[in-house]
Amino acid sequence: MRAHDEMYIDGAWRPAAGRDTIAVVNPADERVIARVPAGTAEDVDAAVRAARAAFPAWAATPPAERAARLTALADALAARKDTLAETITAELGSPLPLSQMVHAGVPVLVAASYAELAARYAFEERIGNSTVLLEPVGVVGAITPWNYPLHQIVAKVAPALAAGCTVVLKPAEDTPLTAQLFAEATEAAGLPPGVFNLVTGLGPVAGQALAEHEGVDLVSFTGSTAVGKRIGAIAGAAVKRVALELGGKSANVILPGADLAKAVNVGIANVMTNSGQTCSAWTRMLVDAERYDEAVELAANAVTKYVVGERVGPLVNAAQQARVRGYIARGVEEGARLIAGGPDAPLETGFYVSPTVFADVTPDMTIAQEEIFGPVVSILRYEDVDDALRIANDTVYGLAGAVWAADDEEAVAFARRMDTGQVDINGGRFNPLAPFGGYKQSGVGRELGPHGLAEYLQTKSLQF
Ligand code: NAD
Repeated sequence: MRAHDEMYIDGAWRPAAGRDTIAVVNPADERVIARVPAGTAEDVDAAVRAARAAFPAWAATPPAERAARLTALADALAARKDTLAETITAELGSPLPLSQMVHAGVPVLVAASYAELAARYAFEERIGNSTVLLEPVGVVGAITPWNYPLHQIVAKVAPALAAGCTVVLKPAEDTPLTAQLFAEATEAAGLPPGVFNLVTGLGPVAGQALAEHEGVDLVSFTGSTAVGKRIGAIAGAAVKRVALELGGKSANVILPGADLAKAVNVGIANVMTNSGQTCSAWTRMLVDAERYDEAVELAANAVTKYVVGERVGPLVNAAQQARVRGYIARGVEEGARLIAGGPDAPLETGFYVSPTVFADVTPDMTIAQEEIFGPVVSILRYEDVDDALRIANDTVYGLAGAVWAADDEEAVAFARRMDTGQVDINGGRFNPLAPFGGYKQSGVGRELGPHGLAEYLQTKSLQF
């Protein structure tokens, strides 16, 4: 795989301050495919300085011109779609069709949506005798995970640029090649030097230096709740803005009148996509006692379609594989009934985990409470609708969820009572403009659409 051995800072590829590198491993065959520099606080400092220097001019650039650069960015990503998809498959392990359609495809839509929003967003409004100005926050430190490597980058960088902010990105250490391709796309899109900067490196080194840097005005982080709490504490101590997109344990609530076969099939597909490495995955399936056995049988059938090494790729690295296998073993120990899969690795090479379904899961079990981040579904039984609601809300997380019912009205009535940031009604359809983010410990702030843009703005009022 082609890799830069430099950082992208101030509009050019520049040597890193130190000599350490990070090996990029293909999780399907465990081979090292590239090496990228492991950035230090010194690299972060150079990148933040470049972003600060570029900020005044970019903030003053008319929104229509910022929109034109974002359109060019969407075009540059579209032009690189095949390379991006192949690179994501190589470093994340996702099956190529998923990489093409979702991993490389969705970011083009998101970048284009911010081109449109930048052009028509009301950066100024009138309230009584005041004019309210919505101004860019400043320099953004973006820290992203590996699970949707390009989407996570675009969901932060595109709204930041639309708002008039400049950015320093520290991508996940497992998927830096995608981030390098993104940097190339920003260059092709004609962004002025310093508006976007990339520092590859380890989380506790480069990531932490970025969060702590006093030249950073806003930290936007997506990743685990454990690291998110640290980032929040760092930002709190410095009174800088922070946005956190963290973990989830979303409920797929199948109400008694719903189309059971459809709800179960879509529910299994939702978790198996990207090998379960989706923060919004519907990992807890809730079914009424009367139709429970039928649902378990449907799920056992549905999961047979997810063949390891074909539709289901490996997990991103050996540590994630070990973690997920540990959770499956824990589920068995705590008395859940395994109806598909199990803790054994299905293939000798590659960080694969068997698609796994547990029945007879109770809300107190570890697999019903903790985020597993693998291809594992837990099926829970509820007695009545209030019981379903209690179980659905019985988690520290609140990122996403689904409700299936005889009609949308009944599903919406239930969704209104769920403590979660996004709910798919009777299947739902992806909307790149809908706000995405968490209630409770799933995070602070929203991404995508106008709500995502608002994160990068601060408010000034002028009284007349
Ligand atoms: P992680 O928290 O370990 O890493 C995320 C990013 O933070 C990486 O770039 C990493 O290098 C960096 N990082 C790690 N330690 C850091 C530190 N001390 N200071 C600054 N930066 C640091 O998470 P992960 O293992 O990459 O991703 C898996 C987790 O992320 C899962 O728990 C999942 O739920 C969560 N996630 C959430 C969302 C969401 O939108 N809510 C999306 C994707 C992943």
